[in-house]
Amino acid sequence: MQSKQFASAVLEWFDQHGRHDLPWQANKTAYNTWISEVMLQQTQVTTVIPYYERFIERFPNVESLASAEQDEVLHLWTGLGYYARARNLHKTAQIVTREHAGAFPETVEELEALPGIGRSTAGAVLSISTGKWAPILDGNVKRVLARFYALEGWPGTTANQKKLWSYAEQNTPQQRVGDYTQAMMDLGATLCTRSKPSCLLCPLQQGCDALRLGKTDQLPEPKPKKSIPVKQTYMLLLQQDDSNEVLLYQRPPTGLWGGLWSFPQVADLRDTLNETGFELREESMQPLEPMRHTFSHFHLDITPVRARVNTPTDSVMEGKPLLWYNIEQPENVGLAAPVKKLLEMMANS
Ligand code: SF4
Repeated sequence: MQSKQFASAVLEWFDQHGRHDLPWQANKTAYNTWISEVMLQQTQVTTVIPYYERFIERFPNVESLASAEQDEVLHLWTGLGYYARARNLHKTAQIVTREHAGAFPETVEELEALPGIGRSTAGAVLSISTGKWAPILDGNVKRVLARFYALEGWPGTTANQKKLWSYAEQNTPQQRVGDYTQAMMDLGATLCTRSKPSCLLCPLQQGCDALRLGKTDQLPEPKPKKSIPVKQTYMLLLQQDDSNEVLLYQRPPTGLWGGLWSFPQVADLRDTLNETGFELREESMQPLEPMRHTFSHFHLDITPVRARVNTPTDSVMEGKPLLWYNIEQPENVGLAAPVKKLLEMMANS
């Protein structure tokens, strides 16, 4: 199948079966496209839609996002995960407002220079919002191309990335490039799915090497497995007597859960006084069901422990921003995913 045929088959399919009513398609500005593309990294369309709608309602343009408090941005992101994306979104909005007079630059190179925008996101923003020629290679497109060309080995190696970008370039048409971008993302998300792709419905079935070789279930090849370590922690759910308030502190701006609010954590329950400045009444300590949170590079096994505490002293959590969070009247702050889950559990118990 020639590149021209590849693109026209994909576009023809898109006109009939692609998604045309996603909320970010109503007004394809660079800002709307950028917000949706960043949210869609690692996250499915159905999950993203309500987050996108809330976000755009609160921050309808780049200036409103740039002038927001980071805490509010993180709050609207709570539950989407990968919080570096939200912090970068905020930084990029400030740069675009300050250095580009509120208009997104119109070259891949300049877009890529902004925090949190890689080559593929830059290509999507550019092609969808301006119609300029710019290929993309997000997770969905990578899967389609890896199968279509029966790519050997894990697609993430440098050599394979290079090959895939060159396939993406050669198939991206000069005309209707924004539609082609959307079409490839849709095709990967709805037909060429991770398991059980719907090859019989696929516009690329004629030229697809994985289908011809009967290897659609083996491609793309998975990343070679590396076992990741398990770390343990206790999260302290501290409340004063007869109060609906629970203690949270804000994590440092960078690193794990950077800038989000979390419970105090200790590696050993005997360290609670040193770490928190509170004397925990031992008889009030109630360990809850442990939970596992998985980061890209380790598992964190969390044992939540509820406890009542004495009145705080000045030395409590020295130097850290603290908040007595009312579980019945939640505040608009960014929360780490397991913290959000535990707060909801406390509110319902
Ligand atoms: S024919 Fe099947 S494996 Fe090949 S691109 Fe289409 S859906 Fe994917």
